[in-house]
Amino acid sequence: MRPNSLHAADLAHMVHQQTDLDAHGREGAVLIARGEGVHVFDTEGKEYIEAMAGLWCASLGFSEKRLAEVAYRQLLTLPYYHTFFQKGHEPSVRLAERLAAIAPAGLNHALFQCSGSEANDAAIKLAWYYHNVTGRPAKKKIIGRIRGYHGNTVATASLSGQPHMQADFDLPLTDRFLHVSNPNYYRFGQSGETEEQFSARMAAELEALIEREGGDTIAAFFAEPVQGGGGAITPPRGYFDLIQPILKKHDILFVADEVICGFGRTGHYWGCETYGIRPDMLSCAKQLTASYQPLSALLISDPIHAALIEGSRRNGSFGHGYTYGGHPVACAVALETLKIYEERDIVGHVRRVSPAFLDGLGALGEHPLVGDVRGVGLIAGVELVADKATKEPFPPAAKAGLLVQEKCHEAGLIVRAIGDRIAFTPPLIITAEEIAEMCARFRAGLDAAW
Ligand code: PLP
Repeated sequence: MRPNSLHAADLAHMVHQQTDLDAHGREGAVLIARGEGVHVFDTEGKEYIEAMAGLWCASLGFSEKRLAEVAYRQLLTLPYYHTFFQKGHEPSVRLAERLAAIAPAGLNHALFQCSGSEANDAAIKLAWYYHNVTGRPAKKKIIGRIRGYHGNTVATASLSGQPHMQADFDLPLTDRFLHVSNPNYYRFGQSGETEEQFSARMAAELEALIEREGGDTIAAFFAEPVQGGGGAITPPRGYFDLIQPILKKHDILFVADEVICGFGRTGHYWGCETYGIRPDMLSCAKQLTASYQPLSALLISDPIHAALIEGSRRNGSFGHGYTYGGHPVACAVALETLKIYEERDIVGHVRRVSPAFLDGLGALGEHPLVGDVRGVGLIAGVELVADKATKEPFPPAAKAGLLVQEKCHEAGLIVRAIGDRIAFTPPLIITAEEIAEMCARFRAGLDAAW
């Protein structure tokens, strides 16, 4: 490595996020220099198909000029303003109006932040606030799911079921965060148990937890319609149909974390639509701006909004907000993104190419390393196993997922290993031909690892 090279400076000064920093110190990082459609190119000029759309987010690929132009125009018109103290600006108002028009029924109000973590952090705060203002101050506990991921703030990392994001950070912060089982039917379904029976068992576990803790102590349940960071895990059949009445019965808010699923990923505008979820709050980010700007929104129901007004009467103001929440440039980019989704019928496109995506990956289920392939729309997880017949996993020390990820990189394909599950969430604009090439490169990566 040359002493003044970019890679040397990276090793000397950059703290990479969500990274094995020991491996980074030995091996360095792949530095991405530019993008074109679903492809990115590193600083050495190597081309990759970006089958993760960055972090499940660059829905329109890496070269959508309309978004760059709208950002530039907004920077010239009003580069910054906030939404504090009864002030605001047109891009945020228009975006809130547009989101209310396309959101699941009843979510008529948008609170803007910069990241998915902040949107979920706000949802936790609002769940407590809502119950306090409406006279149920004992409702404090929040239920998440093992391997669920909702962000990295102190509260959202406590809620997430990801032990490595809590270890040595002194998290979880309080015992208010509870977890139920991971609904991964392939891995945790019992011998002879149907998918529906597995869902019923998951629902019974949730109900037992609620009854044990007391429904009057539980504020909210958080779930991603399709679990992303847990391994791209689609819910088992009937799961959300069984869970929702239990939450309703105990007056527990359902917060749908659509940070990955929102805006077409599952073949509908919302994962909630795909799975019949009727949430009280919905967090979204990432594909909201195609990730060309950092922006998230927490969409809330009329009753929760009414509680915020009542709380302002009680406390003098709604005491929550960030300097950059609802930044005008990010909101302008989001509005243009939503316009592009509509003009190009991106959700229809996802449905049209989804069979090629799921069948193409599904065909690799024949590979000796692959135990399971499952997905919906343009999100899928491929589970690697040591023994297909018994589903026996590889020993952790084998690092099978990381090996396949590395071999895929060599074959010009960026995927993400989550343990021994390989996640795929390509840009929503990917074509059937690009999907065929993605699958061919994945096969090459699997063969090289075998
Ligand atoms: N929720 C889900 C489902 C996510 O996948 C993520 C990030 O990947 C987050 C929340 C956190 O979003 P951010 O990284 O923008 O804070």
